[in-house]
Amino acid sequence: MVDSIYMAELSWPEWQEKIANGAIIFIPVGATEQHGPHLPLNVDVILPTAVCERVARQVGGLVAPTIQYGYKSMPRSGGGQSFPGTTSLDANTLSLVLRDIIRDMGAHGARRFVLIVGHFENSWPVVEGLDLGLRELRRDGITDTTAMKLEYWDFVHRETLDKIFPDGFPGTELEHASLIETSLMLLLRPDLVDETKIPQEGRASFPPYDIHPAPPGYLRLSGVLADARGSRAEIGQWLMDDHVSLITQAVKKEFGV
Ligand code: ZN
Ligand code: MN
Repeated sequence: MVDSIYMAELSWPEWQEKIANGAIIFIPVGATEQHGPHLPLNVDVILPTAVCERVARQVGGLVAPTIQYGYKSMPRSGGGQSFPGTTSLDANTLSLVLRDIIRDMGAHGARRFVLIVGHFENSWPVVEGLDLGLRELRRDGITDTTAMKLEYWDFVHRETLDKIFPDGFPGTELEHASLIETSLMLLLRPDLVDETKIPQEGRASFPPYDIHPAPPGYLRLSGVLADARGSRAEIGQWLMDDHVSLITQAVKKEFGV
């Protein structure tokens, strides 16, 4: 028997057996989005997938295929849609993809899900998809399905952020393609990081509102919103350790595993 943490690498009887034994299904929800000149388009795919894999190992779970496209990139959290390569779904499309996944896996016996969001803009469309999926299952008479939905970056100790940002944490939104994501990529896929291309322009500043469509000069042209200088794999390891231990704790608490 293949003993993979990745659902897609199992045969159907293996999947069925693990689900019958109560395996939790982890669904990473990513994006194909620009991450500056120094990082690849799949940062928001690699990071939540890595977190799911590590947490799933702790709790005997399975990782479903990552959703590789996300909801539209916004100028203040992802640089915006105008960057070549940023390829996104309408909110409705993303929600329906999730709805269908939950419904089909639920119909096949999965009862416990953890949706791990890896792209800031995905959060509410993911909630919508989850809500629709659970509603369909209820209408089919399946009423005992439970799901957690979380953003992995929320699971970090304050002291870790203080250590990484002695001058103050700029906030999750501005961290797009910046120190945190670059450090995690240096940890996981250094082959995909070109440190010589890290922009030298420092932190962006935005007003506390959006303008649609974004006026000229509103977009950060490099696509990097804070500062990626000083990124290190060691910082990525501190973050990953927090993400995995704190998310594992939460999953154990909610699902009693
Ligand atoms: Zn990202
Ligand atoms: Mn993103």
